[in-house]
Parts: sequence; C-alpha cells; structure tokens
Amino acid sequence: MSGSTIVPWVIGNWKMNPAWASSQQWIEQFKQHLQQSPILEQQCHLAVAPTAIALNRVQVQLDNAPRTVHTVAQDVSRFSGTGAFTGEISATLLADSQIGYVLIGHSERRELLGDTPDVLKAKITQALAEGLTVIYCVGETLEQREQGVAEQVVLQQICDVATVISEQHWQNQMIIAYEPIWAIGTGKTASAQDAQAMHEKIRAGLAQLSPAGQQVAILYGGSVKPENAQELAACPDINGALVGGASLNAESFYQIAQAFAANQS
Ligand code: PEP
Repeated sequence: MSGSTIVPWVIGNWKMNPAWASSQQWIEQFKQHLQQSPILEQQCHLAVAPTAIALNRVQVQLDNAPRTVHTVAQDVSRFSGTGAFTGEISATLLADSQIGYVLIGHSERRELLGDTPDVLKAKITQALAEGLTVIYCVGETLEQREQGVAEQVVLQQICDVATVISEQHWQNQMIIAYEPIWAIGTGKTASAQDAQAMHEKIRAGLAQLSPAGQQVAILYGGSVKPENAQELAACPDINGALVGGASLNAESFYQIAQAFAANQS
C-alpha cells in the first residue's frame, strides 16, 4: 500500500552538536536557501532537533524563516509535570516552551542510555498526553538483519509501545522513523529496495494496529545524504528522512529536503 499522499518530513537530528556559533551560522544559511529557492509547506515538512540547551534559541532564530521549520526535542523525561527530577525535561515543560515534537527511541538512547521498552512507553505516554507529536524510532542491528529477524524486531518495537497509543494519537501525533542501526553514522545506507520493503511491512503492521496507520508518516534514517535522497524519496512508503550527519551541513540538509519535496510536485 502506498503512503505517497502523505506530505513528507525531513528532520535533522543534530545529536550532541554543534556549538551555538555553528548553529547560528547553519540557521542563517538554511534561511538563505529557503529564500532563494522555496520549499512549499505542502511539499515537505521541515524540522531540526538541536540539543536541549539550544532548543529555544534555535526556535527563536527560526521564527522569521521564510517558512515553518519546526524544532524537535531529542528526548523527553518519563516523569510528568514539574518536580524533583534533576537533569530531566518533562513533556509538560517542552509543551510550555512551545516545543511540539520529540524524538523517542533513538537507537543511541536505547543502546547507550538505558531506554528500555518500558521507559519508552512511559516517555510516549507523557509526550502524547501533553499534545506533542512523537517521532518514534525503530530499527534492527546488523546481527539481527543477518539472522533474518529484522522485520520481527522492528514490528516488536512498535508493538512494545502500541498499547499507550490511541487511534487519535496515530492520526495526529505519531511519526515512525525506521533507522537500521547498522546504517546510522556508518556511511552505509539500506538500499532503497530494502528500505521500501521494511517500510511496507511497517505500514502493514500499523494498519493492523489502527485504521489511521495507513496515513502515518514513516521516515527512513541511516546515512541519508544528498546523493541517495532522491532514490529514497521515490519509494512509495518512504515519507521522509531523519538525517543525522548530513543535517549538520545546511546545504546538504536543504538538498535532501529538496529531493523529498520534488517528489511531491
Ligand atoms: C540518526 O542518528 O538519526 C541518523 C540517521 O544518523 P546518520 O544520518 O548520521 O546516519
């Protein structure tokens, strides 16, 4: 089933980068690209996920961009509201700062920072309750792919959290990012065919969970760059990209967004 009526998303995951001066430069360059050659809202949604410390400053600097560029938190606390949780940022506080989007389940957080399925479920619960849109990341290791269990692993990661996601949430507040772990930051990209095949399976899985599953944007992530964006964008069930390394360069990120936007025109 094709998801091609879905407006794609191109989201830059800046991870623990960059220092503020470089962010400022990036934003000014990106605005210039948008000014010179606009990407329409109906062709592609755009967003960046800076570090928590820069979120609001990036948001303010993007306020006068020629079009909307959303800001995304890279993580959220599993605890709600306000209180004695040193170092945490709750969904309540993100919403209070007009941050409307959050990445949850990135493989770096699953592998390095203790985000177990139960923790992820709690984070998604908090984010959805505060009206945030969740970009939920899933993906298999190379070993799992070689063992032939990639699809099972990815669908299980979705099932792990599905009990806290309602029909309405699927409709309005959920995006999935398929990021094979072996392709993240390695320069190796899943072939467009392999990525499409997995996206098709994910879409079928989502459709079983909810009728709204057909319309959920499913992004691909893993060494997306200007050179491979066009081929990925042409796949019917790839509705955008979550971009790490290449998003740190404003021109590369813009070119990736252009590739996805061009596919909509
Ligand atoms: C990511 O970390 O979300 C990612 C996709 O990284 P990269 O594009 O560098 O592989």
